[in-house]
Amino acid sequence: GDDNISEEIEELTNLIPSLSDQYKLLGKIGEGTFSTVYKAIDLQHERYDNNSWEMIYDDAMTGDEVSGRFRRPGRRRRSHMVAIKKIYVTSSPTRIANEIAILNDLRGSRFVAPLVTAMRKDDQVVVVLPYFPNDDFRTFYTNLSIDDTRWYMASLLEALRFSHSRGIMHRDIKPSNFLYDIGRRHGVLVDFGLAEREDDQEAAKHRSRHALQMDSSTAARIFRSFDMRGRPGIPRKDTRPALRANRAGTRGFRAPEVLLKIAKQSVAIDIWSAGVIMLCFLTRRFPFFQSTDDTEALLEIAVLYGRLEMERAAVTLGRTFLTNIPTVKDRGIRFESLVKAYNPEGYPVMPPDAYDLLRKLLALTPETRITAAEALEHPFIKNRPV
Ligand code: ADP
Ligand code: MG
Repeated sequence: GDDNISEEIEELTNLIPSLSDQYKLLGKIGEGTFSTVYKAIDLQHERYDNNSWEMIYDDAMTGDEVSGRFRRPGRRRRSHMVAIKKIYVTSSPTRIANEIAILNDLRGSRFVAPLVTAMRKDDQVVVVLPYFPNDDFRTFYTNLSIDDTRWYMASLLEALRFSHSRGIMHRDIKPSNFLYDIGRRHGVLVDFGLAEREDDQEAAKHRSRHALQMDSSTAARIFRSFDMRGRPGIPRKDTRPALRANRAGTRGFRAPEVLLKIAKQSVAIDIWSAGVIMLCFLTRRFPFFQSTDDTEALLEIAVLYGRLEMERAAVTLGRTFLTNIPTVKDRGIRFESLVKAYNPEGYPVMPPDAYDLLRKLLALTPETRITAAEALEHPFIKNRPV
């Protein structure tokens, strides 16, 4: 209840006294796996007069290029609100340092939440971000108009183009990490807690050469682990060594190459997750993929794409896809039929462009998946009305 929250806020301000000099904490706005997020007023900001430089974070509507942390105060009203993210002490120090370093590198886009500051006292770390008003995804995914779907995807793809151009994969693209304001048709990407640099992946690839060589001999381990005689879909105990690959992310949003534990992953994993969000809009179903483990997640995808396409994609990725589960047919389901099936009482007819983009975002293999920059040029996004 409220008492608990005030207690937590007091605890936090006691822990980092300098925090209360600069910010007045108002309440809790989010509670994730790795953090609690509070809303606060930026007191220092309030003291700025018209001639001082001030933080920019609130110029979603101006289209100004953001260059650096400060700029001349604009004529527009500013909210002076910040989000204070208290990272749990149980998070590893490398994880915390990584998030702050990546946020620091990702300044300069109005589609990525810029770091205001970060503070540390002993092992407690807080990250301060501008506060972005946003609508709760669960309240709008069932009734977002086609045009608003275009705008939502446009903001998300802008955020991805920016971070991908810096070689950073977010790794946890999902609605709760993309703060979207329907009224302003603007969204901001947050939560780089799992983000990774592509070149760090290069390094990881060299470190795990042994694991990679092992891949060919253990190629089909994931699908061989299905018990072909027992209940379908229940993996048999597999005692072979696990493949080493980063599989961070959220269930239901992991790309096939993540599920197949491919060691070298790319920014394309984020594009897949963006495709899953678009699929939620079209089918009006969230979360779309439900399974809790990777093997079942691959099966859910296989039901959509069919056995033949899954086999082909797996070969491209150096894996083997084997299944005799009856729900996986040779051929998949067209997205058009899928959307119709989930909307029996009708849906505002989606233009063919929508399906074309969806298919390109959800291409099974990363090499054939559309990039964020390309997707922004796609007619479904490009021709959105102002
Ligand atoms: P976690 O790592 O715990 O998932 P996030 O950074 O995703 O932490 O933040 C958790 C939640 O807090 C978000 O889903 C969102 O609802 C809210 N939140 C985070 N940052 C902001 C912000 N800058 N403005 C408004 N709300 C935010
Ligand atoms: Mg989050």
